[in-house]
Amino acid sequence: MLYYKELNEFLTEIELEVFRNDGIIYDTFVCDRILAKHNTNIYIKNVLPVDKFYDISYNPETINRFIKTPTIKVVFKEQHNFNRFIKFIEDNTNKINELKITYKISVSNEEAPPFKNNNYTCYGLLMDKNTIYYSNNTGTPYDYVMTDELDKKIIDDIINKRTQYIRGFHSNNEIFNDIYRMIKDGWKITNLPYEIIPNESFSEFCPICLEQLIVRDTEIVKLYENVFYKTKSNSYKIHHDCLVKFFKTQQKKIFFKCPYRYVIDFNSCKYLIDYKIIHNN
Ligand SMILES: [Zn+2]
Repeated sequence: MLYYKELNEFLTEIELEVFRNDGIIYDTFVCDRILAKHNTNIYIKNVLPVDKFYDISYNPETINRFIKTPTIKVVFKEQHNFNRFIKFIEDNTNKINELKITYKISVSNEEAPPFKNNNYTCYGLLMDKNTIYYSNNTGTPYDYVMTDELDKKIIDDIINKRTQYIRGFHSNNEIFNDIYRMIKDGWKITNLPYEIIPNESFSEFCPICLEQLIVRDTEIVKLYENVFYKTKSNSYKIHHDCLVKFFKTQQKKIFFKCPYRYVIDFNSCKYLIDYKIIHNN
C-alpha cells in the first residue's frame, strides 16, 4: 500500500519534470495514466475512503485508479532538454531504484514515438505538456488518420479496456501468452482468432468438459474453421476457459488446434485488426 502511494507520487513528479522539459511520454504509461484519471474520478464520485485509495484489495472495480507498472518511456526533441532531464534522473537515482522504476529516455527530433513499435493499439497515444494525442508513427493505417476522432476512439477504448494486438511477439504461443496476460489484467482483445459471444442460453455441449455450455457462469467462445470468412465458415461454441486450458497443452506446437481440428493461429490476429474509427458498441 505504501509502495503504490510512493510510486504514484513519484511518477507524478517525473511526469511534471518531463513536461517542464518539453518531453513526450509514450507507450504503457499514457494508457495507465488515462485509466488512473478515469477511475480516480469514479472513486471520488462514489465518496470512497481516502485512506484505502492505494489498498490493492479495496474496490476492485476501480483498481486501475493508480499506476502499478513502474515503467516510463520519454522522448525529447532537444538535446538540452534531454540533458536537463538526465540530471533530474541522476539526482533521484536512489528513489528510482527503491521504487524499482524502469525508464527509457531518448532524443529524436525527426521520428515520433512509439517508433512503429507499439504492441497494442492502445499504446499508440502520446502525452505532452498540453494534451494526449495519437501518434502518426505506429506503422498502422491509423498513421494516416488526421481527425481527433481517432484520439477520442482510442481513449474511449482504453476507458472500456478494449484494445487490439498489433505486434511484438513471433510465435503463436508467445502471442497467445501475451494476449492472455492482458486479458488477465481485465482487457478485452477485440482481434482474437475467435469470437467471445454473449452468454445466452445455448443448448449445445462443450466438447472439452462435455457440460452444457450455460451450466457454468463462464464466457463462451465461438470458433470458426475459417475466421476470415465467418459467415460462410463452419463454427461451434465452447467454454472460453476450457479452450484456454486446451491450448496450454499445445504450447510447443507451431499453431493450436481446437478439439474439432480447426487451426487456431494467434499470428492471424494482425489480419483481424479493425481500424474503424467509430466504435459501434
Ligand atoms: Zn467446457
